[in-house]
Amino acid sequence: ADAFDEQCDYLFKAVLVGDSGVGKSNLISRFSKDEFKLDSKPTIGVEFAYRNIKVRDKLIKAQIWDTAGQERFRAITSSYYRGALGAMLVYDITNQATFVNVEKWLHELREFGGEDMVVVLVGNKSDLGQSREVEREEGKGFAEREGLCFMETSALQNLNVEEAFLEMITKIHDIIS
Ligand code: GDP
Ligand code: MG
Repeated sequence: ADAFDEQCDYLFKAVLVGDSGVGKSNLISRFSKDEFKLDSKPTIGVEFAYRNIKVRDKLIKAQIWDTAGQERFRAITSSYYRGALGAMLVYDITNQATFVNVEKWLHELREFGGEDMVVVLVGNKSDLGQSREVEREEGKGFAEREGLCFMETSALQNLNVEEAFLEMITKIHDIIS
């Protein structure tokens, strides 16, 4: 354990869900390593990344889980969600089908996640405005009806990525502290 681990106030688990190809893995790598891959390939199995951050004077170790390719087989098991305090539900603003499926993912989150789970709805690929199929207001409206936080992001251009994760982590912190 490094020095941060010893001083760490909280360890949070959060998961990313959403259809394959929406940009989950790139959002995680942007947040945890400030990296983006143009041709990222799905890997098999569950993977996670860490990022240490300070929120409201507390040291938080955020453990972010990635479905790592299993979303296409609808094979995500309850262990993926177990203990998760937060979730990012991601769709692609240039792909209407991924937004339609948000409902299915939310259902799964509510079935397997805890009651207090903080859910942030994320419309990713905001840099591709010319190919937009889902209006910002549609995403925002859905989030408001379902009581979710909402943000449009670009993992490619690093827009709002930090903000989306920070919003989720801050909300989790406020619930458990
Ligand atoms: P995942 O299947 O949800 O994990 O999606 P990936 O992170 O593997 O991304 C799928 C594809 O979308 C890759 O080719 C990425 O380079 C691309 N991608 C991810 N995020 C963005 C983004 O914000 N903007 C654009 N233009 N492409 C993105
Ligand atoms: Mg992936």
